[in-house]
Amino acid sequence: MGILTPKISDITDEGLSLSGDLTGDELGLTDADVSIRGTMSVGLELRPIERSIYVTGVVEGTAGRQCVRCLKEFDEQVAFSLRVVYEREVKSTGPIGKRDGARKKKAAASPTTEEEEPNDDLYYFTGDHLDLAPMLREQVILASPMHPLCATDCRGLCARCGYDLNGGSCLCGEEPSGGPFDVLRTMKEKLRDVGRR
Ligand SMILES: [Zn+2]
Ligand SMILES: [Zn+2]
Repeated sequence: MGILTPKISDITDEGLSLSGDLTGDELGLTDADVSIRGTMSVGLELRPIERSIYVTGVVEGTAGRQCVRCLKEFDEQVAFSLRVVYEREVKSTGPIGKRDGARKKKAAASPTTEEEEPNDDLYYFTGDHLDLAPMLREQVILASPMHPLCATDCRGLCARCGYDLNGGSCLCGEEPSGGPFDVLRTMKEKLRDVGRR
């Protein structure tokens, strides 16, 4: 469990590197979220800046998906980088108390204060350690396609007979021999023959 719950006191100014292979279970991922094949390889770099802890890293693995068009199950490589910020959750104190705390800390800190970027996802921690699993779970879900496709040109299933059109055409779209058009054609030919006589 060490990699998912690093102690705040272990995150020194030099940063803390964490890496390991984690199952979907360990990340709190259920098959309803994303089904992970085997383990995800997670590499994280934790760095304290001010009162926040910046987490950057890379997550790689294989996820099982189901194509929204043909319903086929397929495995997909997952690889993404993440960049999030953890801040200590301030309990029961109003915004004034929080501001006071921040100001006190800022006075003692180095000038590298305004490095915060607005687009970093924000998470909170309490106590003496971070809980990384909920964040990683969310990031894996965010990195997953809303509408997975087995192939960008997947032809899907026939709406009438359910045949997988990737395997060829079904009979629904084809004009069956002896259909109305054939009958019409033969009738025309017969009429032409009659006229010639
Ligand atoms: Zn498909
Ligand atoms: Zn069909």
